[in-house]
Amino acid sequence: MELTFWGVRGSIPSPGPATVRYGGNTSCVSLRLSDGALVIIDCGTGARNLGLSLMQGPFGQGKGHATLLLSHAHWDHIQGFPFFTPFYVAGNSFTIYGGARTPGLLEQVLEGQMAAQYFPVQSFRNMGARLDVRALSEGEPVRVGAATVRAAYVPHGVTPALAFRIEDAGRTLVYMSDAGYGADGVTEGAVGLCRGADLLIHDSTYTPEDRALRLERGLSSLDEAVDCAVRAEVKRLALFHYDQDYGDHEVDQLVARGRRGLDERGAKGVEILGAAEGLMVTI
Ligand SMILES: [Zn+2]
Repeated sequence: MELTFWGVRGSIPSPGPATVRYGGNTSCVSLRLSDGALVIIDCGTGARNLGLSLMQGPFGQGKGHATLLLSHAHWDHIQGFPFFTPFYVAGNSFTIYGGARTPGLLEQVLEGQMAAQYFPVQSFRNMGARLDVRALSEGEPVRVGAATVRAAYVPHGVTPALAFRIEDAGRTLVYMSDAGYGADGVTEGAVGLCRGADLLIHDSTYTPEDRALRLERGLSSLDEAVDCAVRAEVKRLALFHYDQDYGDHEVDQLVARGRRGLDERGAKGVEILGAAEGLMVTI
């Protein structure tokens, strides 16, 4: 699998001179499967650049198909949706999976941000491409191209978020953004979903000190990402979904601190990287 990060920021875009290296766009990742199928995970503002790049290929001619997995519908995970150019090309088709109880509810949420008061197109039914919205149930694997996708809920404030485990040709990616564990820390369920992953993308919004000040936001600290990686015995950990107020320097420090945390836990063999816009990883 070939993965590309298009947006790695949490909560709100944060462009500017302090974020040029890691990037200021919100959550969006693309994944090219072993059979060439395209999976997109989350649709934050990073999806705009992904869309522009896809327009160079079949999506520009109305011959593209992709599957979009939505972890949840907070702004930073859907705000790129109305600005994803391939949605406006007739002939393209998309299967959209999200964690609502019904497809109708998920559609309502996605339509909500395109209501006339917020956006001129008014409905994603007017965008041109065919969008097939489906509700994804926890524990019921779905087949996407050559891959099997399993989803599990992680706590995230008032409404949970979905995490995804994607297995393709003997390789495993886990995407776990927006995980707000309780006082007992990383849950057994989260560790189980991440078990043995070749790459774990884990919410690392805060330092532990900053997280303690913002518990109500339902997001992880770096230490929880490290703990999950160690307990699940993953091979590589990508820090992700950085706080909007962290510049490149602070993210560098998160990565360095994560390296020390892994070493102290006896996990010297686990690679750690800071997700950055444009970074490509082969899994
Ligand atoms: Zn988020």
